[in-house]
Amino acid sequence: MGLATVRTLRSRPAARRFLSLCSAAQACSPFSPKISAPDLISHLFVSTLFLAMAVPAAPVTAGHRRFDYDVIVVGAGIMGSCAAHAAASRGARTLLLERFDLLHGLGSSHGESRTIRDAYADARYPPMVRLARRLWADAEAESGRRVLTPTPLLSMGPRGNAAVLAAARNAGAEEVDVVGRWGGAFRVPDGWVAAVSDHGGGVLNAAEAVKMFQALAVKKGAVVRDNAEVVDIGKGPGVEGGVVVATSAGEVFSGAKCVVTVGAWTSKLVKSVAGVDLPIEPLHTMVLYWRIKPGHESELAADAGFPTFSSYCDPQFVYSTPSLECPGMIKINYHGGPPCDPDERDFVSGGGDVVERVARWIDEFMPGHVETAGGPVERLPCMYSMTPDEDFVIDFLGGEFGEDVVTGAGFSGHGFKMGPVVGFILAEMAMDEAGVELGHFKINRFDGNHMAKDKDDKGL
Ligand SMILES: Cc1cc2nc3c(=O)[nH]c(=O)nc-3n(C[C@H](O)[C@H](O)[C@H](O)COP(=O)(O)OP(=O)(O)OC[C@H]3O[C@@H](n4cnc5c(N)ncnc54)[C@H](O)[C@@H]3O)c2cc1C
Repeated sequence: MGLATVRTLRSRPAARRFLSLCSAAQACSPFSPKISAPDLISHLFVSTLFLAMAVPAAPVTAGHRRFDYDVIVVGAGIMGSCAAHAAASRGARTLLLERFDLLHGLGSSHGESRTIRDAYADARYPPMVRLARRLWADAEAESGRRVLTPTPLLSMGPRGNAAVLAAARNAGAEEVDVVGRWGGAFRVPDGWVAAVSDHGGGVLNAAEAVKMFQALAVKKGAVVRDNAEVVDIGKGPGVEGGVVVATSAGEVFSGAKCVVTVGAWTSKLVKSVAGVDLPIEPLHTMVLYWRIKPGHESELAADAGFPTFSSYCDPQFVYSTPSLECPGMIKINYHGGPPCDPDERDFVSGGGDVVERVARWIDEFMPGHVETAGGPVERLPCMYSMTPDEDFVIDFLGGEFGEDVVTGAGFSGHGFKMGPVVGFILAEMAMDEAGVELGHFKINRFDGNHMAKDKDDKGL
């Protein structure tokens, strides 16, 4: 959105409310005692949504006809697909470029399940999850598809583990007798706490969700191109700003704004196009499916009310979704994995000791119900994009690009559920100079000696 449009917005009541909230956000740290961080996030998001609903989208393209597109999104995982949908929904002429086939399995958004849960030790995330649930529901309604299966959410861990206590508190979870409730599926040690929020969990069908947002983006007028690897992003010529995006096939597109959502490739691409070092480390990890012991298959199924769960036990953070997409099997995974080069992964043995860690956890906590002999039935390689504090990076790239390039990255193994919220924010940042201010997701938090900033257990 050009400056002229922003000036017009300032005279509208909805925009005035939004802009005053933004300046309030800019004036106070997200940790300000006057306005709590979760409230700030939800206020910003809600006001942003309000603005988007209250203000007609038409002016967005008015000043940018000299560019091929208003917004060029690079990378069509869940974040890029949601950002393209959000931008196109506001009337922007949007191009989404993906390096591989659409729905390929080489990044982070493939497979058939991701957890959605509102139990986070860090209180800034549950409001995002709650908004994400609304946006998931909106997209389901708009597309006529179903991608989210709600489930109860179980969080368990040693009573002395601050993260599990905070996560349960932030989710409004209540302590339960897990053994009684789930027929002895879990063996919970003495001194552990187990808390359930009945509506806090769920399983997202990952591939279906990406497909849904791509289809919605196309319906709103976006152009989606696969096998289009972006090799360069340059500053637009002249004083009008904008960007020029080049692919390995020699195609060149101009755009008023660019959104970079390239997952585990972010550090490489951002370094090569902007010379900026981002501490986002690709990790090779795996989606693991384990055989349920005969006779227990239906007990561990989503439709029997079996929960999505997280087990906090430093250094093990193990999580699971109930049996759903592969009947007779249950997905139980470890949060983490060894560093990798996204272009040269060892798909056979690159996962380090992830399998052994999960098998040890199963043998201790679910020995009667899940089989570990022979290892997992299925292993699906995947990548995390890890930041030192496991918080996201959502920011303008700055430097010569100023506010013309915005990136969403470093989702640290817990981003999928937030896709619609992140996509919405990225599109807003690209299209609206009023923007949203999310201090704790900014790149400059890594300046100086913040590489080992404290990390609450973010889990998944
Ligand atoms: C095993 C595993 C389990 C997980 N479980 C959960 C969970 O339960 N809950 C949860 O919320 N999150 C979970 N996550 C995290 C979540 O899946 C990721 O945070 C999310 O998928 C990241 O999406 P993305 O769009 O940023 O990255 P990606 O999906 O990797 O998308 C980036 C895209 O950019 C493309 N690209 C790269 N370079 C270029 C280029 N130069 N030009 C054009 N395109 C390019 C890539 O091909 C890719 O398609 C899990 C992740 C893994 C690996």
